[in-house]
Amino acid sequence: MNYNVVNRGDEVSIQLMNTFHDLIQRQGLTLEENNPDIVLSIGGDGTMLHAFHRYKEQLDHIAFVGIHTGRLGFFADWKPDEVELLAELMGESARQNDLRIVKYPLVEIQIMTPHGIETQLALNEFTLKGADATLVAELHINDELLETFRGDGICISTPSGSTAYNKSLGGAIVHPSLDAIQIAEIASINNRVYRTLGSPILLPKHHHCDIYPRAGQNIVLTLDHICLQRSDIVSIRSMTAAGKKVKFARFRPFPFWSRVREAFIGYERL
Ligand code: NAP
Repeated sequence: MNYNVVNRGDEVSIQLMNTFHDLIQRQGLTLEENNPDIVLSIGGDGTMLHAFHRYKEQLDHIAFVGIHTGRLGFFADWKPDEVELLAELMGESARQNDLRIVKYPLVEIQIMTPHGIETQLALNEFTLKGADATLVAELHINDELLETFRGDGICISTPSGSTAYNKSLGGAIVHPSLDAIQIAEIASINNRVYRTLGSPILLPKHHHCDIYPRAGQNIVLTLDHICLQRSDIVSIRSMTAAGKKVKFARFRPFPFWSRVREAFIGYERL
């Protein structure tokens, strides 16, 4: 089994990466940057987003795991002082050829332009905003108009991204075993002229959402940490990615709801 490490670039993460290289190579794993079986992200959840986009063409055979060097994260759920334990467990599962993984859904978007269709994937979410004015767009679900949106933008997140931007927008936290995407409004304008639903919506995997921005608008599109400015978008279709999931290696149980409690609540008891 071979591995690679993606780190945040700060001193602590680089030091931890060097320690990990020593530990894991003693366990018999080989460093392989282009075609790894396991990718370790050292940094924060943001670092995992970078790791995901670097290897998104190889999702069928790569499993990710994360150590956080800041606050406890959702994707980065190992602590720096557990690096030895992680290397041991990784070595053990390599020797036994038994890698336990969980698979989480992704959001796929299809960007229609006059020149064709581009497909993109996101681990957390994609957002659509007006670049120099409010976004005006029709939102259709399963080819039927739901609403005409006017406001800052629209966020479409995966279940694992539901704890990120989506949560700040008042969206629900969704367990990543559910194949669904969530649509949340970003500061919609609601008055006698413009009216939106005002609540986040969950779409099951066989449903899709199309956003038709008013023609000629300058649009800012984000895919996780990646930001693109476009003025050629005719529409964007989003749905749960079919047949593509991200795999996380699980060397010990750490249930999603425990991570939610640890990240947002803490341990106070009555
Ligand atoms: P970033 O600094 O990498 O991420 C912003 C914050 O979101 C960081 O604290 C990061 O945690 C946290 N985060 C990322 N994924 C998460 C997840 N799945 N669950 C819980 N927290 C998560 O900023 P960036 O480079 O622009 O990254 C883009 C991400 O930032 C987007 O995917 C979006 O979700 C998030 N974002 C949030 C807001 C908001 O909440 N108002 C606004 C814009 C973007 P770490 O510190 O552990 O990396």
